[in-house]
Order: sequence, then C-alpha cells, then structure tokens
Amino acid sequence: MSPFSDNKSEEKAPSQSPPTAGDTTQDAAGVSAPSPGDDWFLPQDTRRDVLRLFEKLSGPVALEVFTAPGQNAPYNDYLLKFLRDLSRLDERIQVKAFALSDDAAKTRGVDFSPTLLFSPDDLSIRYLGAPLGEEVRTFMEVLLRVSARQSGLSEPAKKRLAALKDPRRVTVFVNPACPYCPGQVLNAFRCAIERPDLVAAACIDAAQHTEAATARGVGSVPHTIIEDPDGSLAPLAILGLEPEDRFVAELASMQSAPVRADATDTAPGHDHAGDVTVKEVDVVVVGAGPAGLTAGMYAARGGMTAVVLEKAVIGGQVTVTPQVENYPGFATVPGGKLMEMVAAQTRQYVPVIEGAGVDEIKIGRRIEVDLGETVYLCRAVILATGATWRKLGIPGEDRYFGRGVSACAACDGYLYKDAAVAVVGGGNTALTEALHLARLGATVTIIHRRDAFRAEKHLVDALEKEGVEVVWNTVVEEVLGDDAGVTAVRLKNMADGSTRELAVRALFVAVGYIPVTGLAQDIGLALDEAGYIKVDAGMRTSIPRVYACGDVTGGVRQIVTAVGQGATAALSAFEDISHPYWKK
Ligand code: NAP
Repeated sequence: MSPFSDNKSEEKAPSQSPPTAGDTTQDAAGVSAPSPGDDWFLPQDTRRDVLRLFEKLSGPVALEVFTAPGQNAPYNDYLLKFLRDLSRLDERIQVKAFALSDDAAKTRGVDFSPTLLFSPDDLSIRYLGAPLGEEVRTFMEVLLRVSARQSGLSEPAKKRLAALKDPRRVTVFVNPACPYCPGQVLNAFRCAIERPDLVAAACIDAAQHTEAATARGVGSVPHTIIEDPDGSLAPLAILGLEPEDRFVAELASMQSAPVRADATDTAPGHDHAGDVTVKEVDVVVVGAGPAGLTAGMYAARGGMTAVVLEKAVIGGQVTVTPQVENYPGFATVPGGKLMEMVAAQTRQYVPVIEGAGVDEIKIGRRIEVDLGETVYLCRAVILATGATWRKLGIPGEDRYFGRGVSACAACDGYLYKDAAVAVVGGGNTALTEALHLARLGATVTIIHRRDAFRAEKHLVDALEKEGVEVVWNTVVEEVLGDDAGVTAVRLKNMADGSTRELAVRALFVAVGYIPVTGLAQDIGLALDEAGYIKVDAGMRTSIPRVYACGDVTGGVRQIVTAVGQGATAALSAFEDISHPYWKK
C-alpha cells in the first residue's frame, strides 16, 4: 500500500544499543562503516540509496533538532550527523539545530534531548529520541510524505478524519528492534499530516526516554496513548500494531474499536457502498510470512500474475525471532533480516502489500478476495495465514499483558534488560527468547512443566552455556503485580504440589502457537483435529483451487519447511489452473 514500500528492504538492521560513531551508520542504514578519510557519516552505498529515495521528494522539509550536551550524548551525536548528511545530500532537507536551553525549545514545547520536529510551523510530528533501527524506515517515509503533504491514508480514513472536530494528541512508544512499531507510528504520523490543525503525534523511543516510558506505564511496545488535550475524554491506551481503519476509528471516537478474532480485521460482508477497486490476478496469496512470500515468488516465476497480501507485518513470526540458526545458507541471521531479504526477492516478481487485511473470500467460478476497498478476482487462492501465540490462560496474564507479560522478546526484551524475567515453555521459541533476553543482560529463569526440553539440542546446549536457570516440572499458576506492572509469578511444582513466588518484572510466554484459520473456517475448509488446515502432498485443501502452506497447516513448523510448502502450493496452483502439457 505504501508507495515507498519498495525501499524498505534497503534500510538498516535494527539495533538497540546506543549508537557510536563506528556502529551508528550500521544502525541507521544497515551497511558498512564510512570509509576513512571522508567526513561523511553515512557510508557511500547508503548515501546512494538515500539519493535514490530523495528523487521522490516533492518539496522542502524543515526539520528542527534539539539537543543538550551530556543528555543522551551518543543519540544526539548520531542524530545530528545523520541529519547533517541528509541535508548535504539534498538541499530540500533543511535542518536547524538548537540547544535545549534555547528559547526555541520553549516555543516548540521541547524538553527532551534529542527531539526532532518535522515542519514544526505547520505540523505537529516529533520524535523523542533518535530514530534508530526499524524507526529509520518510518522516518524516511514520513520525510517523503511531509514533503508532499500527503498522508497516504485511505479515502474512508480521510473522510473520518475530515469529520474530526476536537484536537487529539497521540504518543507511540517504540523500541528500535520492534517490527510492529513502525506501522503504528505511521498510523499516528499520517493522521497528523492529514489533520495538522487537530492531530499532534509523537514517537518516543522507550529505551532512550525511560522516564517517559515509566511514567506512562509502558511495559510493551508499540504502546499508543491517544489523548483529548481538552481533557474532557479519558485517554485511550492501545497495545500493539493496528490496521489503519481501526486506528483512525479509535482516534476519532477515543474508544476501543472491536477486533475480529481471526486473520481479518473488520467484519465480513461489506456492502461495497463506497468506491471499490476490482483487480484481476491469477493467484492471491494471503499472508506474507516465509510460506506466503515464497508462494508469491513461485507463482510469478511460473508465469501467473499474483499478489501477496499481509494484514500486519511482512515476514510473520520470523521477524520477531532474534536469531535464526537453522536456515540453510545462513549460520546465524536475525529473523527480521532474513525476512527482509525474502521479501525483497519476492518483490522483484510480485507486489507484496502490507496492511492488507482480507475481510472475506467468496468461492465461485472466479474466487473473490475482498479487502473492503479492493476486491481481487482470481483463479486460485493460497492461504498462508500462519499462527498466533498461545496464551497460558492463567490469572493475571491478560491483566498484565503489556505491563510485563509479553509474547515477543525481540519487541519488549530491551525494556527488561536489567531485570529478572521468566520465560515459560520448553520448545524452540522459549529457548530462543530466553537466550536473547540473557544476552541483553536480563536475569532469566525458564519455567518448564517437564524435566526435559522439546527444543533442539543445539539450543539446549547454548542455554546451558549462557548459564540460564531452569525450573523444571513447574507451571506458572498466576501472574502477580501492582499498578506499575508485573512483580512476580506464582509457581507450582508438578511433582510435590508445592507453590512459591518468583520475583520477576516480566513473563515471556512461549508455549506454542495456534493456527489462524478464521478465513479458512469462513469458506468451510476441512481442518484436522488440532485445528490446522488439512492439505494433501501438493498443499491442496478440501476446496479446489484453494491451497494452504506454512504454519497454518501444522507439521514441523520450520522456516525451511514453510518455504518448501509455499513453493509446492504455487506449483500445484499452476498445474491446476494452467493445465500444462505434462498434466493433460
Ligand atoms: P512448541 O514446540 O509447541 O513448544 C511449546 C512448549 O510450551 C512445550 O514445551 C510445551 O510443553 C509448553 N507448553 C504448552 N502449553 C503449556 C502450558 N499451558 N503451560 C506450560 N507449558 C506449556 O512451540 P514453539 O517453541 O513455539 O515452537 C513452535 C514451532 O516453531 C516448532 O515446530 C518449533 O520447532 C518452531 N520454531 C522453530 C524455531 C527455529 O527453528 N529457530 C524457533 C522457534 C520456533 P510440552 O513440552 O510439555 O508439550
């Protein structure tokens, strides 16, 4: 959906460490350090990428940056050098730097170093903390959108915002390694571009501005707070990434909008009263994890027209896997980086559309895949809707979700890097998360209900080496806490029934996944006893011309098997709808 999405793969690897002169460029752009002897901060290949991106600038963008010496010094330094390079690359990037003690800071209401304002004379968009890691792509997209004064919101969202009468203040707390954060920041910033007179939006790096994060009770990111500055309505706190329409509805109403409990985000059965764009392709792939992306690529390489639709984050669960060590060809690679590469490769063949939640699929002579504003007419559909994390279902789990209870160590781990934390589960996810947390500096205890792990031996060995404590034969009975969040978990020993409390600031839940089968159930696909979509060896489901692949089909649920299944599903679709000579 984003006109800039083709640039995403060109940008940096996430980093959470304070930037330094040597590694900051890596943070900012994911490329090698600057060559010695020049006074550029960004390395040459990054500058080339930036220049290509700046060809899309529509006009000047005024940026104001405020810093105070000694306050977050590495971040100030990074931001000033980064912005200096951007302004040298294109004169339309007009940067003014101020000291936090200057009157300008008071005038603009700035009291944190570093703070970055976009076009502050007519917009209210700001970063508190230097944009790093995943936030660099948000920064670049916002730069282009501000230059064009185009929010890029959908027409219904624009209409809804046009009716807004009262001011709104939106704050999104983020972490540079969180792949869900940029989408939510973009939701906020787009609204601020669309209604500059009423919407003010700020992105706060929770690790750089811990005081603000603590004051607002942030225990998980993205954490969004929408406020009515007039104070007549209660603030609305939102956890996680939301689809644009839901975000805009909540911003307008200051009330939680309902979520549909499956793969889709809005109720099915649109009346299509508004403008609907109808597109025709051979194959629609629903879901852009490793299975869906591979299916899209194979479909296109086979000669079919295809599109890959993703309602949330491209890359699926893998994007939040800190390190992948069992994908052939990569001894170790961050999950997000791996999926960036897969997505970039897929985009060479087919569009991969982010934020595209499918409302309904109708099976007929042609299959209709309905996204509300857009309907795809296709000959085959491949479901790669993946799986979502399984809850423990214990007291306190929901209550403290986002305030210490988390299912994403990559997103939230940094908030607890100096704390005692527990991880529950005994599979690959639990051990991968525990290792990541331990390497961030947290004191980790794994709670497992058996006396052995089901995770790979390699991970078990790494855990031992890292010295992570394991509490065996034990379950978590309850999450305990206070107004600030989690304080402890109550544990029960399965062997003797004894209970005790373990003091922790966070509980990471890693007890497996449940398949996302809402769309599959709506169209009546056969599921197996465990709730996964039933498929044959060609990934054909119980309905002709509907295929499924990846975690939604169960099995061993590895990245390497998901990509294999994606390829198989696309090849089967090709055989079934193109009737090649060898199948006649
Ligand atoms: P999993 O393999 O199903 O393991 C879930 C763990 O949680 C098991 O140890 C299970 O205990 C425990 N558990 C389940 N319900 C529980 C409850 N109510 N209370 C306490 N413990 C509970 O799930 P996963 O680790 O998320 O892995 C899912 C799939 O993804 C696997 O196929 C895995 O190999 C794959 N994966 C791969 C990688 C990788 O290769 N890098 C990384 C992550 C995940 P029991 O052992 O007693 O059943």
